[in-house]
Amino acid sequence: MAKEQLMDYQKALETYEVVIGLEVHVELNTNTKMFCGCANVFGDEPNTNVCPNCLGFPGAMPAVNGKAIENSIKIGLALDCEIAATGRFARKNYFYPDLAKNFQTSQYDEPIAFEGKIDIEGPSGKVFTVDIERAHMEEDAGKLTHVGGSTGRIQGAEYSLVDFNRAGVPLVEIVTKPIYGAGDEAPELAAAYVRSIREIVKNLGVSDARMERGNVRCDANVSIRPKGQEKLGTRTETKNVNSLRSIEKAVKYEIQRQAHLLSQGTAIIQETRHWHEDRGATSSGRPKSDADDYRYFPEPDLVPIQPSKEWIEQLRATLPEKPAIRRKRLQELWGFSELEFRDVVNSDLLDEIDDTVKAGATPQAARKWWTGEIARIANSEDKEISEMPITPKQVAEIAGLIDSGKLTDRLAREVLTGVLAGEGDPAEIVSKRGLEVVSDDGALLEAIDKVLAEQPDVLEKIREGKLQAAGAVIGAVMKAMGGSADAARVRELVIQRASGE
Ligand SMILES: [Zn+2]
Repeated sequence: MAKEQLMDYQKALETYEVVIGLEVHVELNTNTKMFCGCANVFGDEPNTNVCPNCLGFPGAMPAVNGKAIENSIKIGLALDCEIAATGRFARKNYFYPDLAKNFQTSQYDEPIAFEGKIDIEGPSGKVFTVDIERAHMEEDAGKLTHVGGSTGRIQGAEYSLVDFNRAGVPLVEIVTKPIYGAGDEAPELAAAYVRSIREIVKNLGVSDARMERGNVRCDANVSIRPKGQEKLGTRTETKNVNSLRSIEKAVKYEIQRQAHLLSQGTAIIQETRHWHEDRGATSSGRPKSDADDYRYFPEPDLVPIQPSKEWIEQLRATLPEKPAIRRKRLQELWGFSELEFRDVVNSDLLDEIDDTVKAGATPQAARKWWTGEIARIANSEDKEISEMPITPKQVAEIAGLIDSGKLTDRLAREVLTGVLAGEGDPAEIVSKRGLEVVSDDGALLEAIDKVLAEQPDVLEKIREGKLQAAGAVIGAVMKAMGGSADAARVRELVIQRASGE
């Protein structure tokens, strides 16, 4: 496929105003599915958690999962939405092989939650209020696996397999109103918004919120219009972008692509687009009209939901603190500077560091490991930090081993490598790899004596009080001990030895 032409990003922003809109699907972590009693579990053998209902057998009768309603209301409340006094489900009719019923049970004109808002901090610290249009309940479709091609996509595949375990898993779709005025921060703002939604549903405990498993998925709408023009430009919708980094890149790409087309006098086609992480580009999907003809009609097999005011207030009382308030509290608690804290938030490490501190590490040590060595390795392997196979507890353990003098920084980095390689917990790796700091003075003195014997002139200098000369000896001893010695202790011993004690 020929690479599409892009306009320089800064130039595009000088000429055009960017308008974005975001649709986020959140998979709820209820024990059972939305309309049947099948287990809602990720990773089970394909087609083992299915029944006549989620397979769309004729005559099967659905029943609403009460817990899913409760969780949806909580999400609505956390987004400052109104909760509908009454809400109906609707059938959204379409055919696709991952949808055995040939319709998706969703909500159409009566969503459970509507008219909300959330404050999102952009990369420069500027706060944007994002208006929420609606949050509605629906069910997920099954999962297709395309086999035989090189990309895992349907194009080029020899055949496809379908797993209906995911069919009927409860979803909440959160839709924003158009977001204006983000300017050059639009790509980062889109990612920051999804990060906040993820944080909210995770803290509510209503979703596992793991993007790499598709628990949180984002469709990004992007349009641009010449500055000063009232009329909105034609928008594109980039579907199912599954990481924060990709959201940022996809929005930026669409801005540049559309700007190039408009500057050439070419109209933008209203369509869905797909994001390709491998080549950092979007490609054309299917044309999309404003009102897709899904022939929505009220679901006749389900009664309307009518949550009582008392119940809604009870649920409101259980809400955790809002992300913006939580951030303020954590920044004060941890004593991080503005810059340090923003770095943590923008690196998407707030939860990791919070959990690491809760597991016993100091905030500074937790920050140092996550934003330093672990981020560096993730980056070099082109992975999200959340994908790295290390837990906050393990990081806290490594930090603890340094504090207790059992590991030097260098040894600790080696232990980290071991954890990431799946060799076990830090303590196991220390013993397996023999990484503990040599705290046996006898072994250190033996090495020191050997080095001093080889460098009699240095010994003389130290004796004359030129302590900086000890540096060379310390370096040689550290090298002889394979880095597993505590440099401060070696220094003490060298000086003791030289002064003849
Ligand atoms: Zn089922």
